[in-house]
Amino acid sequence: MAAGITSVPFFRHDLAPANAAQVGAVLSTPFLTSGNVGKSVEQKLKEFFDLPGALLVNSWTNGALTTLLATGIGPGDEVIVPAMTFIASANVVEMVGATPVFVDVDPDTLLMTPDSVGAAITERTRAIMPVHLYGQMCDMLGLRAAIAGHDNILIIEDAAHCFEGSRDGYLPGTHGDFAIFSFYATKNITCGEGGAIITRHADMLAPLQQARLHGMTAGAIDRYRDRHYQHWDMVRLGCKSNLPDLLACLLPSQIDEIRDKLPIRHRLAENYRRSFADGPIAMPRQLEGATSAEHAFAIHVPHAVRDEAILTLNDAGVGAGVHFRSVPSMTYYRTKYNFGESDFPVSNNWGQGTLSLPLYPSLTVEEQDHVIDVVRRLIYPLCSSAQKMSA
Ligand SMILES: *Cc1c(COP(=O)(O)O)cnc(C)c1O
Repeated sequence: MAAGITSVPFFRHDLAPANAAQVGAVLSTPFLTSGNVGKSVEQKLKEFFDLPGALLVNSWTNGALTTLLATGIGPGDEVIVPAMTFIASANVVEMVGATPVFVDVDPDTLLMTPDSVGAAITERTRAIMPVHLYGQMCDMLGLRAAIAGHDNILIIEDAAHCFEGSRDGYLPGTHGDFAIFSFYATKNITCGEGGAIITRHADMLAPLQQARLHGMTAGAIDRYRDRHYQHWDMVRLGCKSNLPDLLACLLPSQIDEIRDKLPIRHRLAENYRRSFADGPIAMPRQLEGATSAEHAFAIHVPHAVRDEAILTLNDAGVGAGVHFRSVPSMTYYRTKYNFGESDFPVSNNWGQGTLSLPLYPSLTVEEQDHVIDVVRRLIYPLCSSAQKMSA
């Protein structure tokens, strides 16, 4: 056993008391809500992704709601969503009164496939929501091809796990109509709660901006730009999803460093993959030509021992999470849409056996050695005995 290590938290963020200076700088101005700091971060995002549009929001969830409101997706419309994702991906569709149409995912990568999308399209389909699960990007060119000829179908990428990843040289937002990020506490870039929408459609910026702020024609920073008060109008129904400068100020330094931190995540993830290659646990396949953002390190064990495996890890001081139990298996969706045991078999199987191990840039070699040791010494035997029993 690695000497001295007794506990490895599931997650550790990289913010520090020194970041208080960034908040302090905002506090010394009269403007606390969405102002010039946010605008400069949006400029940084546009440059990072080489796109004409970027808007900060106060969560992925509210950013997705903003996007659905701005594009007029609502009752009677269908949005195709993978069954293996976080509940928020489907919840936002429900919240605007549209219907999430779940599709199962690829058994090796757990990503949404062009074939499943092609089979799920109806005349009501208004959008598809590929999720770049664990940081690995979906086949965006294949998905584009799957909706070719349907000019009214939008691609809204759930890029909550993939800010810094790429696939065949393209980035989130390159082939989708919108890509949405999360800056939630555990994500690769975080300000506690937050997110961003990026888009290649410059003409969608005004509708998005309005939908982000009550449907108003101008935000506070623009209303007070001149010395004299200006009236605003409300031109559409919007939500309240703008990110305050108090939080936005924590983002620029992280955006500047994110590409330098990716090799650290890669090294850690590769070390896990090498260490577990000979064992009884399954891991998502890594695609050639893709650079994963390595947001989470998910493994899969026999269903019968998943919860015991998590408790065993916790007892050995190792934090673990579950990303995710499948969305259609949640009580709300299962009862509302009458889903059964045999629906979405790949997602249900993955969701019943998956657990995630600690993966973050400040994870030390000793800490990771402890995690690997515990998995090999205590989780492997659990898996082997479960596999024997079911054989
Ligand atoms: C975290 C997450 C979300 C939601 O992000 P919030 O910023 O908390 O709203 C959406 N989709 C996926 C895949 C996530 O992991």
